[in-house]
Amino acid sequence: MKAVLPLFVFIDACGWEIIRNDPFARSFAPYRRRLESVFGYSSACVPSIVSGAWPDQHRNWCYFVYDPNRSPFRMLRFFRWLPRSVTSRRRFRRWLSKFLQGPLKFRGYFDLYNIPFEQISLFDFTEKKSPLKPGGMNRGGNIFDLLEIRNIPYHVSDPACSESENLTSLIAEIRLERIDFAFVYWPDLDGLLHRVGNQSLEIPAKLRLYEQRLEQLLVHASEHYQTVRLYIFSDHGMANCNEYLDLRARIESLPLKVGRDYVAVYDSTMARFWFLRQAARELIIERLGQVPQGRIVPETELARLHALFPDRYFGELIFLVREGVLIVPSHMGERPIRAMHGYHPEEPHSYAALLSNQCDVPTSVTAIPHIYNLMAADAQFAHASNVTPISEGDLMGFKAARAAQHATF
Ligand SMILES: [Zn+2]
Repeated sequence: MKAVLPLFVFIDACGWEIIRNDPFARSFAPYRRRLESVFGYSSACVPSIVSGAWPDQHRNWCYFVYDPNRSPFRMLRFFRWLPRSVTSRRRFRRWLSKFLQGPLKFRGYFDLYNIPFEQISLFDFTEKKSPLKPGGMNRGGNIFDLLEIRNIPYHVSDPACSESENLTSLIAEIRLERIDFAFVYWPDLDGLLHRVGNQSLEIPAKLRLYEQRLEQLLVHASEHYQTVRLYIFSDHGMANCNEYLDLRARIESLPLKVGRDYVAVYDSTMARFWFLRQAARELIIERLGQVPQGRIVPETELARLHALFPDRYFGELIFLVREGVLIVPSHMGERPIRAMHGYHPEEPHSYAALLSNQCDVPTSVTAIPHIYNLMAADAQFAHASNVTPISEGDLMGFKAARAAQHATF
């Protein structure tokens, strides 16, 4: 039997509003709190959780950026001759994304989404590595680099496998007492919420399923580890979409040409612009001012949200819609979906959640990048304890040290 297992379970989109009035995990993780999310999508949130840094530090923010010189997609321009009825199909794009992943040497998650083939050679894709692996950050290290450097044996879910396949392999590693740290990633709730919305009865049903799984995991873990330190957390919440905005049509009715005057990426909740001519900047700013569903985010605010990049790599101007509005069609999707995230972090449904069986999670843990500090401290404590059996004094010392360390979070 080993001494300590820190179990970090990441449930995508299990936001504070999703669990606030639900008894989810209360019997085994009664200490719960709301966490501030990171401005952006999972492409920004996941790297922030695993690195403890913010987007302006790690430079993993939005997937597509205007960078024609480094675009790996030039060969895809020929698809522009195919009819849109084929090239805008989700199934075709998923197949093509999968097919391209090898030749493009992308190691993380990759999806062409709905970027038009006439424009694809203007863009680069920013997540070429997987943030769930060592060396996976665009800048700086992550928890997996730390675990490797310290020789701490760990489990991390493989995104290519299903949730239940990952659970089976984790339980096998626990039974062999092979690991001193586990990072579990369950993405399915996010997909379900996008499809059915946050009020569907399918959501509490899914939470019950997760509870059963967590209980099963805890039974196995407590048979092989004296102490199981459980943390369940999310990256963001999910808001229902009740208004659709065709922002692209509003911009494309201006007397401007994409690629000559400006370039835009239409994400689901924001639009990012690069200007090739000054006149385009003025016209687009004026037009955006006539769209009441959103606003241009001032640079001072972007800086406060840790999403202002000195080289404006992710866009020179960021337009963000208010919660509940979906930009559609967008470069992310051709058709509407029921719910979305990626709104301003202070919108009600943006907040993430942290649930634990540990009563001493420091009050300074208020935002999702702080989860990194919990992981780093727990992994090192567990590894030390599992090499040399833990005493009551060690545990008290760890708690005191952690309280002191969190003062600097
Ligand atoms: Zn999502």
